[in-house]
Amino acid sequence: MALIELKGITKRYGTGRTAVLAVRDVDLEVEPGEFVSVMGPSGSGKSTLMNLLGLLDRPSEGTYRLAGRPMERLGGRGLARERNGRIGFVFQSFFLLPRLTLAANVAMPLVYRGIGAMARRRRVLDVLAAVGIEQLGDRRPTEVSGGQQQRAAIARALIAEPALILADEPTGALDSRTGEGIMALFQQLNAAGQTIIQVTHEPDIARHGSRLIRLRDGRIASQEAVADRLSAEQLLASWAETEGVDGSAG
Ligand code: ADP
Ligand code: MG
Repeated sequence: MALIELKGITKRYGTGRTAVLAVRDVDLEVEPGEFVSVMGPSGSGKSTLMNLLGLLDRPSEGTYRLAGRPMERLGGRGLARERNGRIGFVFQSFFLLPRLTLAANVAMPLVYRGIGAMARRRRVLDVLAAVGIEQLGDRRPTEVSGGQQQRAAIARALIAEPALILADEPTGALDSRTGEGIMALFQQLNAAGQTIIQVTHEPDIARHGSRLIRLRDGRIASQEAVADRLSAEQLLASWAETEGVDGSAG
């Protein structure tokens, strides 16, 4: 069963002559375990599509099945439950709470779910380790690098074990090398079975995915399997060779 099934999805903003069709008649299926990159010029509907996939917005037309369940039948509460239970979000600008430690930021989704402090602490340590910043849990966002902040944001997205990670320009605020480190992490997560959909306008970032979708004027203009997929392992090995680093820094 597909994890995501969109049929005839259209999103219209405004009415009448000033209406904008941000997404037009999109059909899309994503299987569990895929790593999809979405590219397209500014204004082509990438963020709108991500908001629809993330249940942050409702389509004007069309149907969305997430893990087989039709989303259009759900009310606001039901959508929130699906979103919190199945989807982890990663944004360009991290959105970490500045007064909280990284560990407290990462724990936040579990706090909302009413999970006890002991279980939270254990799970936080696990996901901080999974993203390579287990030693930074006590720091605040301003006390670590941009790449480390994004790792914390990814840990926060992972903590509730979402079926799907949605990342809108996850490397957009990072230098290219740090961005590659984030892609190496996404590839590791994806190799372990995590489904990921990311928006990027950088071709080299897109090539870490297994499938590339190009949007234009709200439509899917093309779709292809990524033939020359970049290998995170090779990348990390080549860095280690040239500079003697483990690739998890930054
Ligand atoms: P992208 O992320 O690819 O740059 P967006 O999804 O943000 O594109 O926007 C697609 C189109 O929809 C653009 O023409 C944009 O101006 C329009 N749009 C997006 N959000 C809104 C909104 N809330 N109200 C009106 N128009 C919007
Ligand atoms: Mg956008």
